[in-house]
Amino acid sequence: MHRRRFIELGLATSGLALGSTASADEGRYRPGGPWAPNERAVNYSGYLDNEQLGERLRRLDERSNRIELEQIGESAGRGDPIWEVTVGDGDERVHVINQIHGNEPTGAEAMVKILQRLAGGSGPEIEQILDELTITIVPRANPDGANFVGEDGLEDDGEFRQRRYNTTEWEEGDSRYKNANSYEDDLDVPGYDLNRGFSIIPGFSPGDEDEDWWNVEDEEAKLGNLNVPVDEVGLELRDGNPYDEIWNAGLNLNPETQAITDSFLESDPDWALTHHHQGPTAVPESSDGNSGPQQQSIMSVMAPYGPTYANLEGVDYADFVGEGNPFLSVDAQTRSLELAGLVPEQMDQFGRSRLDTITRYAYGPLWGSYLDALCPQTDAAGALYEVSHQSDDRGHKALGTMVKVSVEGIMATFERIADGSIQDVDEMSYFDLPIPEDIDNPHNER
Ligand SMILES: [Zn+2]
Repeated sequence: MHRRRFIELGLATSGLALGSTASADEGRYRPGGPWAPNERAVNYSGYLDNEQLGERLRRLDERSNRIELEQIGESAGRGDPIWEVTVGDGDERVHVINQIHGNEPTGAEAMVKILQRLAGGSGPEIEQILDELTITIVPRANPDGANFVGEDGLEDDGEFRQRRYNTTEWEEGDSRYKNANSYEDDLDVPGYDLNRGFSIIPGFSPGDEDEDWWNVEDEEAKLGNLNVPVDEVGLELRDGNPYDEIWNAGLNLNPETQAITDSFLESDPDWALTHHHQGPTAVPESSDGNSGPQQQSIMSVMAPYGPTYANLEGVDYADFVGEGNPFLSVDAQTRSLELAGLVPEQMDQFGRSRLDTITRYAYGPLWGSYLDALCPQTDAAGALYEVSHQSDDRGHKALGTMVKVSVEGIMATFERIADGSIQDVDEMSYFDLPIPEDIDNPHNER
């Protein structure tokens, strides 16, 4: 297959290009990675805080009649606004959420740039996007994690940090048990991983669940996992019936997941995109095979799929897939794989560069996640983009490159949905992408 060959060649030549600097000192910066100099000194100065983000969005809204800005909720701890921006008035509907993990800020930064283009840009591609698509964007889904200031995260003055979780502290009555899959009890300031907290059951509120669904880990600590019998999910099985129950479901008990769920259902999307960060990863076999360092992967892409694709022979799944998500139609699965597959195609056009190092994030169902819980509700295709390095690992180093790859990937996605050419993407090209290798950050060794 031409596409497969192209990827392999691209990676091999990138590796060769790196070989010449391979013998440099461990601590010396090598363009393209794997390691920048000391990254221990994390610096957040490059990122927009909640107030600055709100200001940027308000300015865009004031200057452009293409943009509609709405506050759809407020964060659990700080009470900061959760914003939603709508642009375009086409029939094809796209929903996008970013920074649901507070220490994964690049998506919000990329959205400001994308909205600037869509609000003020011209040219046939922009016109077509605005005519064909209605795009609903939640630029920052977790303002508490994104803007964690001071000891309790809620101050206006003090050390500015970012972290994965929000700042909701579980209280008696919030739910029967603390959801072990979502709630982090032993942090200085406890909170939820919001991307484990969506409910796949339409209209669900905590307390609606049967007590038997709880798999209790620790009665004393009120800790458990929620496993829902498939026939209680209340969604159509569109691709077989492979499970008795789904595991580690979310409860939708945080204002952030509630606001995003409402936003999703109201926008009724055909397509759903979410932006994340991952740890540092390397493109396998990207060195010259001698002493050359491997090249870092700038971004991984992930698509959810169900039994039809999860049972294909000859595919390297590399992680727990199970039978995938059977609540998605085969059509939505195929379109999901196309969404993910078009990103490396787009990056090929930049030639041998840091942008041309797209890898595949291995998929397995996370029933409390945005994609697995919400996409089935409107049979939306979904994709996840995941740039390398959390901000509390690397700060704003390489921010520009991370924003660039995100903007280019997402704009190309809008263009190809708008002109229909997304259908030309071979969905199997997703499985041709290499699965990256985890690498340790030597600067974190103590
Ligand atoms: Zn994430």
